[in-house]
Amino acid sequence: MTSRLYYTDAYAKAFDGRITEVSADGQRVYLDRTAFYPTSGGQPYDLGSLGGAQVADVVDEDERIAHVLAAPLSGHEIGDAVRGEIDWRRRFDHMQQHTGQHLLSAVFATLFGYETASVHFGVDRSSLDLDVGAIDAAQLGEAERRANAIVWENRPVNVSFEDAATATGLRKAPPREGTLRIVTIADLDRSACGGTHVRATGEIGAITLRGTERIRKQMRVEFLCGARVVRQARADFEALSAIALSVKASLAEAPALVAAQSAELRDTMAARKRLEGELAVHQARALYEMTAPTPAGVRVAVLRRDGGSLEDIRPLAQAFASLPKTVFVAAVLSSATVLVAAADDAGVDAGRLLKPVLTTAGGRGGGSPRLAQGTVPNADALEGVVHIIRDGIA
Ligand SMILES: [Zn+2]
Repeated sequence: MTSRLYYTDAYAKAFDGRITEVSADGQRVYLDRTAFYPTSGGQPYDLGSLGGAQVADVVDEDERIAHVLAAPLSGHEIGDAVRGEIDWRRRFDHMQQHTGQHLLSAVFATLFGYETASVHFGVDRSSLDLDVGAIDAAQLGEAERRANAIVWENRPVNVSFEDAATATGLRKAPPREGTLRIVTIADLDRSACGGTHVRATGEIGAITLRGTERIRKQMRVEFLCGARVVRQARADFEALSAIALSVKASLAEAPALVAAQSAELRDTMAARKRLEGELAVHQARALYEMTAPTPAGVRVAVLRRDGGSLEDIRPLAQAFASLPKTVFVAAVLSSATVLVAAADDAGVDAGRLLKPVLTTAGGRGGGSPRLAQGTVPNADALEGVVHIIRDGIA
């Protein structure tokens, strides 16, 4: 049985425990008492050191707590005292998030009657799932303001041990019978919990609500507490500053300006696409006039480009192939890609014509009777493909 020091003193950063058992590989150590918090109730385990060895994981085995070390514990035997030191930055961060979660859950319950169905504490962000189908921005704002007001009132957070049968005023029904560890935020919340918490709400520092996500019939609300709020504010500031700099605006003006520029860009792109289409029609007509027909009366235009993509050529290809008895062959040398477009009345099935030629050249591709495209291993092979196709059209 391991005595859990964090139950009564969440602020114990270092402690001395006696070794009761060590696994054969020396990396799983049990003590008579520990301040290391094991993963439990959603709160992640503590890191730190034990007898100079790094603690990699802490596991709750009901009666006992296992300290999993990164390397075997050396120079210690069963019965020896060993020094444990908690990574306090990590632990205090967990205490801020965890106490903040109790406070937030109580605020959502008291303001709106929304119960917390489950909680999740992540490395970067935490969340709680509210038993409600929707929550709006005004409610989030109100909950955030209320939660921070309670933080700044610096209300005491106390731990007591009470019998489940007689404990009153719990936010949720007791999870089991017998003695419960109850965490009380003065005049706000009483919850049965085995985690570590700060001693007064002021130590949470601040609480911000971030995004929401609908998960089945519940709303997941992401939140940050304490130092994470400051880190996120710094990251947000830097991101917004980069955006503002790119549009040469102040931080306050940047969002509206970016939205306006995005709308303008969409309009410009649409206009460009329309003009490209019109240009392609003119170019196709000129190309048609320049191209001599085969004995069968089919006009085959071949276009070679060093770079760019087939997508750029596609409007011209389609415009040309919309003219009577035409076939358009385009090759992009840099990407070794080829496109064939054929008019309805050209007597050519673009897909059937191209596919076997590509296969023979070690490439792949295909398409419909009107439009086909593909790739080959290199520019030389591409040139061969173009010739075969060109010569194959009567
Ligand atoms: Zn708790």
